[in-house]
Amino acid sequence: MAEQTVATGARLNPHYRKLAAGYLFPQIKKRVNAFAAGHEGTRIIRLGIGDTALPLTATVIEHMHKGIDKLADQKTYTGYGDEQGNTALREELAKYYWKTRFVNVEKEEIFISDGAKCDSGNIQSIFDVKNVVAVQDPAYPVYVDTNVASGRSGGFSIDLSGYSGIVYMPCNASNGFFPSVPEQHVDLIYICSPNNPTGAVATDEQLKRFVDYARAEKAVILFDSAYSMYIGDNWLPKSIYGIPGARECAIEISSFSKWAGFTGVRLGWSIVPKALITADSKPGDAHTAWSMWSRRQTTFFNGASSIAQAGGIGALTDKGLMESQGLIDYYMENAKILRDCFRRLGFVVYGGKNSPFLWVMTPNSMKSWDFFDKMLNEPHVVITPGSGFGPSGEGYFRVSAFALREDILAGVESIKSNLKL
Ligand code: PLP
Repeated sequence: MAEQTVATGARLNPHYRKLAAGYLFPQIKKRVNAFAAGHEGTRIIRLGIGDTALPLTATVIEHMHKGIDKLADQKTYTGYGDEQGNTALREELAKYYWKTRFVNVEKEEIFISDGAKCDSGNIQSIFDVKNVVAVQDPAYPVYVDTNVASGRSGGFSIDLSGYSGIVYMPCNASNGFFPSVPEQHVDLIYICSPNNPTGAVATDEQLKRFVDYARAEKAVILFDSAYSMYIGDNWLPKSIYGIPGARECAIEISSFSKWAGFTGVRLGWSIVPKALITADSKPGDAHTAWSMWSRRQTTFFNGASSIAQAGGIGALTDKGLMESQGLIDYYMENAKILRDCFRRLGFVVYGGKNSPFLWVMTPNSMKSWDFFDKMLNEPHVVITPGSGFGPSGEGYFRVSAFALREDILAGVESIKSNLKL
């Protein structure tokens, strides 16, 4: 007998239907897996995803082990922690901002999370659905996708120029991969520096223009500094709060992933200043961005893993920071090797300085996905097609320095020998 279906009133979120195809990285994985299935025994070198390759450092491991020992003993066992994060870790982060970025952040303004991806995706939920969103183009896909899924855009355009309703701020060679402020009013502005994918680092002057714009328009900047530890040139800003007025208009999101190897451990933080002003709130009101983010985190989140947070405290000790600098130096040497390789082959290469990402022009104006296929088929190297990061990414590809040296060297050799230019 045929099964009868029961009609229900539940409907799926219609905004998810607008999302173009899959999320970029699973899409890459699908293509690579299909290639691997047809080429058994072929060595594929993955320089596509920004995932760390080196193990955790000694001080982090020591602190995590101590965290486990505490959980193993009845006298020191703890269960749930504060949703906003371990107080000692928040204090260490506040001190770290003061010592290294010369900015004053209160520990209550720091919210510990399970990573910057979640924070950069969740933060939009405390803002009105009618807010107009501006993104750097190209950009880390989470900013656009989470706003599309939450109803702040129309559909994806047929000519691939992006989602209607989202303001794309083109970043290209002619503006040094940092945009001008929008010509119209926008409410939420995503800025990532050092930038994923272009590797560009914003200067004080460039950030000041956005802070001035945001204060004039009562807009909010969502500043993603996940790669700030890669800034070796100390005159470049590592936090937006070094810019006068930023506490009134900017939220900063960051992570332990890329500099301490926590991509699998999961630990990040967001900073929402109590001084932040929106069109409908000012400091001291019952509802501010700070109080709403606090409400959001205590309602939807139960705190990051206590073991991960113990490791985070270890990473912020002097010894932990010194050891992490070793990881950063290693990846930056990878970036140099890759940059030299592509330059010697005649590619136009950006990034790779103060950033673990290279942003490279495809040869002969090839489409990004066509070049992705060429790199997979000829040298068997996985890169990331630039168009996956937004319309202005077409004609570029991203190369990640997050890999073991032997893979970087094998990739370089294979590119030199097998890529037909
Ligand atoms: N922000 C940017 C710009 C990223 O590139 C990434 C990861 O690739 C993240 C955030 C995610 O960091 P996390 O591992 O802390 O979620």
